[in-house]
Amino acid sequence: MTTRRLPVYFLLDCSESMIGPAVDSVQSGVERMISELRQDPQALETASVSLITFGQGAKQIMPLTELLAVQIPQLRVGPGTAMGAGLRLLSDCINRDVRKTTREQKGDYRPLVFLLTDGQPTDDWESAVDDLWSKTESRIANIYAVGCGDDVDYGLLGRVSDIVFRLDEMTSEKMNQLFVWLTASIRSASASLGTTGAGSGIDLSKLPDDVTRVEPGSYTRPTGPPRQVFVDARCSGNRKPYVMRYKLDPIGGQYYMPSASHPLEENHSSGGSELQGLDSSLLDGCPACCYCENSGACACGCGTVMCIAEPAPASIVCPGCGATLRTSSESGGGFQVKQSAG
Ligand SMILES: [Zn+2]
Ligand SMILES: [Zn+2]
Repeated sequence: MTTRRLPVYFLLDCSESMIGPAVDSVQSGVERMISELRQDPQALETASVSLITFGQGAKQIMPLTELLAVQIPQLRVGPGTAMGAGLRLLSDCINRDVRKTTREQKGDYRPLVFLLTDGQPTDDWESAVDDLWSKTESRIANIYAVGCGDDVDYGLLGRVSDIVFRLDEMTSEKMNQLFVWLTASIRSASASLGTTGAGSGIDLSKLPDDVTRVEPGSYTRPTGPPRQVFVDARCSGNRKPYVMRYKLDPIGGQYYMPSASHPLEENHSSGGSELQGLDSSLLDGCPACCYCENSGACACGCGTVMCIAEPAPASIVCPGCGATLRTSSESGGGFQVKQSAG
């Protein structure tokens, strides 16, 4: 006879906007959570954890695994926010992994799902939500959604899950608080199993200060231009890829101000849908290159945006196509060398 497990799924937004401190603090939050849950005999006995990420697509990066065997893989970001694909994959994984109750055995407990996102889906999420809730007569999981920041459509999250939370910012301190609370929630959920019968829900009374519960209907869909945009670039020195993050100027609400640049991995797939049609004249300068701190940027006719020193050298070799560009006139593509605002 096998023990009844409490399956815990994390459905993590790994879109490009999560790059940098946000995804780092999710990574360390999950790692700390696992090591803490391992200290808890009750959790150790019952909880199994799985990680599903969504960005350009969705992937179960860690199958449902008992705590002692868990090894957290490295989270990787990609362009896009394919939450619909993430929800479909979640549903498939639950249907495949979670043991059902039969005549011979009691199945696993109803899974806990924690969805974490900072943006709006870029794929078809509505049919995924309908599928998730229509397949079975009883809910296949208790889903808790945590939205981070102002770009989130909280009304949408209310359709995905029963209970929606909001975190203002994704600073590492606040993300840490969030994971401390999630850890405590999983511990108390596993401790209450069996004592109350069905329950695998979490205690909503002990929310950390920065996490607020979102009541249904209390938020409207965000309108207007996106609050952040991203431009993929390459260092003209070491030729490595990076992404430049811009934030909408809160004063005028028209231009994007440089915010930070983050290293990308070489195999990072670029060309997120958010970037298409982005008018570079709306960008006010650029963030310094994260590798060499060059404070300018220019574009090659091949589409590669690259960092460039200021004042600009007479010519520069495109790290994308290898062409030699004269920086005075041939830096086409509408992305001129600009003084960094910083
Ligand atoms: Zn550089
Ligand atoms: Zn080029």
